[in-house]
Amino acid sequence: MKNKQLVMIPGPTPVTRSIQNQMGREVAAFGDPDFISDYKELIHDLKVLWKTEGEVFVVAGTGTMAMEMAIANTLQKDDHLLIVSHGFFGDRFIDICERKGIHVDVLSSEWGQIVPIEVIEQKLMEKKYQAVTVTHVDTSTGVKAPVEDIGNLVKSFDDTLFIVDGVCSTAGEQEYVDEMNIDILLTGTQKAFGVPPGLAILWAGPKAMERRKKIGSIPEYYIDFEKWLPIMHDPSKYFATPAVNMIWALAESVNQIKREGLEKRYARHKKVGHAMQLALEGIGFSILAEKEHRASTLSNVLYPEGMDDASFRKLLYQEGVMVAGGLGIYAGKMFRLGHMGNVDMHDLVATLAAIERALHHSGQSVDFGKSVGIFLSEMLS
Ligand SMILES: *Cc1c(COP(=O)(O)O)cnc(C)c1O
Repeated sequence: MKNKQLVMIPGPTPVTRSIQNQMGREVAAFGDPDFISDYKELIHDLKVLWKTEGEVFVVAGTGTMAMEMAIANTLQKDDHLLIVSHGFFGDRFIDICERKGIHVDVLSSEWGQIVPIEVIEQKLMEKKYQAVTVTHVDTSTGVKAPVEDIGNLVKSFDDTLFIVDGVCSTAGEQEYVDEMNIDILLTGTQKAFGVPPGLAILWAGPKAMERRKKIGSIPEYYIDFEKWLPIMHDPSKYFATPAVNMIWALAESVNQIKREGLEKRYARHKKVGHAMQLALEGIGFSILAEKEHRASTLSNVLYPEGMDDASFRKLLYQEGVMVAGGLGIYAGKMFRLGHMGNVDMHDLVATLAAIERALHHSGQSVDFGKSVGIFLSEMLS
């Protein structure tokens, strides 16, 4: 019998039935009073849960649009931006900003490592930057940036904003906007929120909103904070049609998060991430990211010597699990496994067992059940 397909890539992640049901609802008018009240409650919840005195924007689009929206509303042509990059997605800010005529300086780490905080500090002392961008979890490397430390540092530079790409972290890795001195946190729905792709979410703290005001009119239209702000305050107003069913789906995810507890959700991700990484290491793989800087939301898994990536991933797919390939210089050398959002114990145990079967079919010698054993002992200890 053919296996069910588990989507274990770093986004989209598995979507629970109750979230799918929201997607399948009969569409309502965006002026429907019930929809308006659901939308309002969603904005309120996002503000309260992620703790900001600033604003929240929920707009149709992807994570990349959220990155562009953050930049468009805070930086202008000829401004200076410091990009702290731990991989492919960190570098994406370079392209976005160079098109706008923003001057970028890039601090890059070796893939798997982080840029040391002292290096960032030195750069900030040398030159005045209007903003610093950091990717909390870079999906290409599985590295988690020390966002809290960088936030503390950037805080002491009055005119510098701290922009955090949380596309592979928000709702999985610890983030509180104002407490962590984040000025803009941005994400998409399809990763740790466990909602299908389609919405961008941005939290903009007071300092970011002041900057938006100060720069006056901007060339961008659809992604202008000032166009959306009246809707975020009162969703009965119209600017561009809200993605009604997506908003319901996200609201259901947020309700699940409230039931679970955000702090508990963070702890769950931490435990799962660690246990998955130990289990994978236990059967001959290694993890790209250095131990102290490993993400909880995904693992970037390096093959043992002599394994072919394309054929392994094909076998794994036949066993019912889809993972992603490596990016950049790690294409063909690793696979990327998401374990964030609403993945449960069934998904995780099944994934490890499928990896063992795929290893066996690739001709590797496998001690069946070993990874599952390591995972369960870690989870239940
Ligand atoms: C996935 C991802 C993005 C891009 O998001 P899209 O929704 O694919 O546009 C940006 N940053 C990070 C860290 C990501 O993981």
